[in-house]
This record gives sequence, structure tokens and C-alpha cells, in this order.
Amino acid sequence: MSRYFSEKFAELEAYVPGEQPKDQQYIKLNTNENAYPPHPAVAEAAAEAAKTLHLYSDPECAEIRKTLAENMGLTPDELIMVNGSDEVLNFAFMAFCDKHTPAVFPDITYGFYPVFARLNQVPFREIPLLENLKVNTAAFRQTAGTIFLANPNAPTGIALSRDEIEEILQTNAYNVVVVDEAYVDFGAESCVPLIREYENLLVTRTFSKSRSLAGGRLGFGAANPELIRDLETIRYSTNPYNLDSMTLAAGKACLEHDSYNTDNCRRIVRTRERTRYAMEKMGFEMTESRTNFLFARHPDVGGEELYRKLKEKGILIRHFNVERIRDYNRISIGTEEQMKAFLQACSEVIGGK
Ligand code: PMP
Repeated sequence: MSRYFSEKFAELEAYVPGEQPKDQQYIKLNTNENAYPPHPAVAEAAAEAAKTLHLYSDPECAEIRKTLAENMGLTPDELIMVNGSDEVLNFAFMAFCDKHTPAVFPDITYGFYPVFARLNQVPFREIPLLENLKVNTAAFRQTAGTIFLANPNAPTGIALSRDEIEEILQTNAYNVVVVDEAYVDFGAESCVPLIREYENLLVTRTFSKSRSLAGGRLGFGAANPELIRDLETIRYSTNPYNLDSMTLAAGKACLEHDSYNTDNCRRIVRTRERTRYAMEKMGFEMTESRTNFLFARHPDVGGEELYRKLKEKGILIRHFNVERIRDYNRISIGTEEQMKAFLQACSEVIGGK
């Protein structure tokens, strides 16, 4: 830290993204990217947009917002477009939390939430997951704070039902409830249909997982127009050109070929279930994942040890050195071929015990 760095950030510990080592070619199962590249039309649209990069991008994101609204049965003023859903989550911490309204989220969840809370100097309260790693919904009644719930949760992969979230919305009517649906397209129930019923609901979504656009950095928030206007005030006060022209064009093309994305999600879910079956046979225990990753532990191999031994074999998975989940690893679902290599490597590690 330089002597110029503001004192207010002395306690700030930056978010640590999944590693991207370049020392050799790895099978990357550590950052929950989509196993498949985007539809070819996406690259074509981005290349076409590159021809006008001397001009600013559209701050209203009008075309993609209209296409997305049609795709979701919403109106454009119920949507805000952002540079990856991390951006709208940060906006929500800025817009809806302060020293009287703390952020409230589970103790084991997306690691960016405490970082955003500290960055924005807002207090936060963590509610422990239940013994079975499910979110303790009863403890989320009347929290007097702004709630952040990843649904499905990460890194556990476990989803709450829409009814369970609806109860949280009803018992926190005076506060905003943010439902982070980064992984919802892999088998969970979306809360987007509830935004017209609950004026305190903000749903955040990303193109990074189910739409194969992690490198494009595109996400959005869905809520009633008043909440969206608050978030737009923050966006226009930080970076009105938060989305570049290539990403806007790529995202629109991606939506125009959305059945391609849906098919890929189905393939990934099938691969997930085949992988789960094979892992169970090897003795792994897993949570019931509704995402494009599995969260697994093995009685004979520690979490850190499995991570390290697989890395030696050229396979990257994600280990969290965090109490309660130290025995586990998070394994993103890759292609069938990648998962075969992963299973083979696991059986070698476990067989060698
Ligand atoms: N929420 C959760 C739960 C995530 O795991 C991620 C991806 N790391 C995000 C949000 C953010 O994704 P992005 O910024 O790529 O849209």
C-alpha cells in the first residue's frame, strides 16, 4: 500500500478471482465459464461493431435492452444493462445500503459481497448456512437490512425455491432483496416473474455463464422501473459508457440465437449429472447442484490435497480455504471430454491413497 492510499480502504481486501496460470495448458474447471464458445454470429456482430469504435457506445443500451425485454416478457424500463453482473451488484450496495441499512447475506456465498460492502463502507451481517449447507431462510425474516442472496448459491450450488424467496420478500417489505441469479439457467426457478408484484425485488443476471459471454462482460438487473432508475442514477454517476459497442452488439446477437444457448445449458446439465453419478461411485459426497458446477468432498482426500494433485495433472478446480467448506472443491462442468479427463485424474488420486 502506498502512503497515498486512502485510509478508508485500509481494511479492504480485494476479491481474488480464480487463478489463470499460463505456465502450461490446463483443463480449466475453476471459474464456472461455459464449456462452449458463443454462437458464431456473436463474433461477427462484435467485428462489425469494431468498425465504429471511434464513436462512443450507446449509454442507453437501447437496442439490446429492447431485445432482452422482448425475450423476457418485460419492458425496457424494467432492465439495466451492466458490465458483468458484478457491476450491478456493486451498484446495489451503493444505492440500497448505508450505515442504517446494513447488507445481509449468508456466511458462505459469493465472495464479492463482503468486498463490495467494505468498498462502499457499509456494515454487513452474515447469516450462517444450516448444517446441510442450505440457506437458513427463517433467519432472513425481518432482517432490517438489504439482503443479497445468490440463487442458486455459490459455491454450494444449492437453490431455494421461488416460494422460499417470496417469503423473504414479504417479511422484508421495507428493504430491498437482491436475488443474484448468475446460475439460474442451469436448473433453478427464476424470481424475474415476481418483479411486478414486489417493489423491493432486484434480480441480477449475467451473460457470463449460460450465454457463453464471460469475456464480453455483460450482465443486467431486472426490477420495477423505480428501482431501476435509482441504479441508473448510480450508473450515470460512475460510467454511462459502461458497455462498449462490441459487447452491446455481441450481446444482441447472442440473444438472437438464444436457442443455441439453451441447448448448451441442457448439454451442460446432462454432463453435470453424468459426472455426479461417476463421482458418487468413486465415493464423493456432493450437494444438490442446480448450476454449472459441482461442490464435492471425498472422505479419503482433503479438499486442498485433491486440488493440488489435480493441478499437478493439468486440471484446475477451485478450493476455498474457508472454515466449514475446507474439505470441498468446486468443479465447473466442462465438455464431456474434459470431464472424462477430470474423472480419470480423480480416480488416479483416490486409487493412489
Ligand atoms: N454472482 C455469482 C454468484 C457469481 O459466481 C458470479 C461470477 N463469478 C457473478 C455474480 C458475477 O459474474 P459476472 O460479473 O461475470 O456477470
